[in-house]
Amino acid sequence: MDLKSLIRHVPDFPKPGILFYDITTLLGRADGYRSTIDCLAEPYVGKGIELVVGIESRGFILGAAVAERLGAGFTPIRKPGKLPSRTLKQTYALEYGTDTLEIHADAVRPGQRVLIVDDVLATGGTAAAGTQLVSALGGQLHGLAFLIELEFLNGRAKLPGQEVFSVLKY
Ligand code: AMP
Repeated sequence: MDLKSLIRHVPDFPKPGILFYDITTLLGRADGYRSTIDCLAEPYVGKGIELVVGIESRGFILGAAVAERLGAGFTPIRKPGKLPSRTLKQTYALEYGTDTLEIHADAVRPGQRVLIVDDVLATGGTAAAGTQLVSALGGQLHGLAFLIELEFLNGRAKLPGQEVFSVLKY
């Protein structure tokens, strides 16, 4: 199935100069959503993944379905102030300023085999912060899986030593 043809490209969103990859058009189709999860989960079948960590917000839509497919648990990494219990925070640099992500402090058991899932790997800052949160809780990070990788932004450089998989490359 040609997943790329079902992704809508929205120029200048959320700000001028950004080409936004809108996956709602892909996931809105039953065959598109199923095929997306097939492709994302396939490399990890039988790999002993115990927990999928999804990054807000499109990482929830993809990560939860991948977790269910793999027979793993799911936990969210969220923007500040959204998680109700005690959290661990990680702040990371943006082009202008900083951003922070949080995970529940008890979300990952030490040694637990973890897969991080998000929709887009762009500059890699978000994924690197997620990696640091999982590591700080003692999780054993098996890898990171993305639907889309923007190769020209070289996000992999921010994830040294990690196994990075992407379904679609631009
Ligand atoms: P980054 O930290 O630069 O790798 O950005 C990754 C996060 O920003 C992901 O959670 C994506 O959802 C979002 N993102 C970055 N660039 C795009 C884009 N061109 N289209 C859609 N989402 C994007």
